[in-house]
Amino acid sequence: MSLAPASTAPPPYRARSLRAGGWEVTELTDGHLRLDGGAMWGVVPATMWRSMTPPDADNRILMALRPFLARKGDVVAVIECGIGSRWDAKKRGIYGIEASVSLEQSLASCGVKPQEVTHVVASHAHWDHFGAAVVESGGALAPLFPNARHYLPKVEIENALNPDHVRRASYRREDVEPIARAGLLVAYEGNAEVVPGLRAHVLGGHSDGVAVMTLDEERPDGAIFWSDVVPTAHHAQPPYIMAYDIDVARSFDVRSKWIALAAERGWTGLFYHDLDTAFGRIERDGKRYRVVPLGDNAP
Ligand SMILES: [Zn+2]
Repeated sequence: MSLAPASTAPPPYRARSLRAGGWEVTELTDGHLRLDGGAMWGVVPATMWRSMTPPDADNRILMALRPFLARKGDVVAVIECGIGSRWDAKKRGIYGIEASVSLEQSLASCGVKPQEVTHVVASHAHWDHFGAAVVESGGALAPLFPNARHYLPKVEIENALNPDHVRRASYRREDVEPIARAGLLVAYEGNAEVVPGLRAHVLGGHSDGVAVMTLDEERPDGAIFWSDVVPTAHHAQPPYIMAYDIDVARSFDVRSKWIALAAERGWTGLFYHDLDTAFGRIERDGKRYRVVPLGDNAP
């Protein structure tokens, strides 16, 4: 088997951006990680996924950790957080965690300081999505964004603070507790408006409370942040469900509904884990879907 060299080296951070409704949306980065290809693709056979997401010698797929900056008026929102730097050498090795550019550095390149962020909106509390919300400073844990209200689904907060046996590997209490202690944590449920034009929809499936976020969803040039509901552009077919998903039947239902809805509305998709595609529109292609890269996103 020949391995594509592209899978072994992360592409450079480009700070690509586009307009979505009334929002200016810019990709951020918190580096990359490598997860097992079989786990990322569930029942999809390697003969199908290997060409789309080439594995390394340990069968791991290189994936982006790509939060987004969404700005409109006085709102400076960080959508999803990244993995953060509180990792020991063993975990860094297992998960191939590397960040040549951190979340804070990518924000700085957009001219934004952590204390200027007004809202952090997260889809769920898995450590690769919320770990960067908390930093170690002077031996204590503190919020990276000291003035931001941090939005997480209610059930995700409960899971992070008290994970059961099945969920323990996916959450860290210390990612969420310092935010709660600082009085910055806001729990949401169902279909929640964070600020006008920025909504979170709790779907479940991948995790108990995983959500997608929408920007000006009533407009045809609106956007949807897919989180782990559609982790990469290659996963934009309803049955391509990760083995990590805790409720596969629910995943299939919500993915079928929301992928179809996004294609119908024409929303710009924002992809968190896709190595190359930050922005792409899902279109119907016969019985399947395809993703059309958008803006200055063309790989
Ligand atoms: Zn993830």
